[in-house]
Amino acid sequence: MAIESINPATGALIRSFPALTDEAIQQRLALAAEAFAAYRRVPLAHRTLCMRKLAAILDQEVDDLAALITTEMGKPIKAARAEIAKCAAVCRYYADHAALMLAPEVIATPQNHSYVRWEPLGPVLAVMPWNFPFWQVFRFLAPALMAGNVGVLKHAPNVPQCALAIESLVRRAGFPRGTLQAMLVEVPQVEGILSDKRIVAVTVTGSPQAGKAVGALASWLIKKSVLELGGSDPFVVMGSADIKLAAETAVQARCINSGQSCIAAKRFIVVDEVYEEFTARFVDGMESIRVGDPMQEATDLGPLATAGILAGVESQVKAAVDAGARLLTGGAKMLGKGNYFEPTVLADVPRTASVFREEIFGPVAMLFRVKNMDEAIALANDTPFGLGASVWTREAMEQQRLIAELECGMVYVNSMVVSDPALPFGGIKRSGYGRELSAAGMREFLNAKTVVIS
Ligand code: NDP
Repeated sequence: MAIESINPATGALIRSFPALTDEAIQQRLALAAEAFAAYRRVPLAHRTLCMRKLAAILDQEVDDLAALITTEMGKPIKAARAEIAKCAAVCRYYADHAALMLAPEVIATPQNHSYVRWEPLGPVLAVMPWNFPFWQVFRFLAPALMAGNVGVLKHAPNVPQCALAIESLVRRAGFPRGTLQAMLVEVPQVEGILSDKRIVAVTVTGSPQAGKAVGALASWLIKKSVLELGGSDPFVVMGSADIKLAAETAVQARCINSGQSCIAAKRFIVVDEVYEEFTARFVDGMESIRVGDPMQEATDLGPLATAGILAGVESQVKAAVDAGARLLTGGAKMLGKGNYFEPTVLADVPRTASVFREEIFGPVAMLFRVKNMDEAIALANDTPFGLGASVWTREAMEQQRLIAELECGMVYVNSMVVSDPALPFGGIKRSGYGRELSAAGMREFLNAKTVVIS
């Protein structure tokens, strides 16, 4: 894909960028290695100051940065502002907690003194997507930089200005030159970057295809990788749930980021006794959502980020209907300029349909009726993915069973799945491996060096 900013609400080309030459890539890799050698010795107190400054700049420049996000990938402006605020929050979280996370961990053994010392690994390659063009990068960079690593960013080709803005923010916050570099490169250039001995590890957020390609190369090179590869999260509604709240939250959980979120609820699994009530409320909510110009404050759902994503969603919905699914609302792209798709609810997608096992990256819900909890759990787990799950029941026994038996990395009871800097974030199965955020996320790119002093 060409490296181009195209406004998804209008289709207008804003700017295009040439990919870096091989020589420019070499210069940046050399700078990354040089920066790491010095930066790893920068005292934690100084890193903390820079991280707090970074948070402060994000707060000060929230309006401009949010406008940049919306112009490049089309999310509603209020959601873009919330994304920048969340980036500031993750910077502050690690500024507050890194000292404790990085403190040597003393472990009692028969030896005189033994402990684990947490050491940075070096320059880490971050392959990132466009859906949260700041947040996805910040949830990697805040822990990585606090721990003494440095980063090289290969961002998605439709958000190059966001990539460059992040590099500039990090620099203006006082972090040394080379601590975080945006590399405007194309996919075939990634292999050379990851294979370079100066890059020691990689984190990928994106599709399973991207994760498979990069993860396979990383493992062949024996370099650490973390993969966050999306999901098809279940939203399970049992008879004792607060149906009104569940249905309202379901709309929000499906349409967050115009439907383009890995942790958006995508499969709604509802027991017989409350199916009709939930469906009526949910469909009504999906039809009431305000679709429009993402720059307007009132807009809840903007265009999809690229024409390719729109075409993909359109063909998935068509395939579902062709396979026998019933369309309860929506189902088509919207007329006029921009990559708009109607909020859509599909019922009874057959298990044999290919889309049943796919992630739909747009405002399209798949709704299923089940008899009881056994069926709900079996259906929820009948997916290649295992990222998050949102479950709705007021009965403690049911809650405990769902928590224990759902195959996923995160379960939220009576609320939607959201990421929180303090909690490990990540999945199992084809949703990837490893964790981001919290101490667990920081430690993915640290050497747990065992020290024994006799
Ligand atoms: P991709 O997974 O293709 O893109 C994510 C990032 O990975 C981009 O920077 C992309 O670069 C890069 N990438 C892709 N393939 C390779 C490769 N072989 N080697 C190195 N880097 C690679 O996502 P798309 O934007 O194409 O979206 C496709 C689908 O992926 C969506 O419909 C959705 O289902 C899923 N997705 C999930 C996300 C999540 O949050 N988990 C985020 C984005 C997408 P480039 O674009 O240049 O190929």
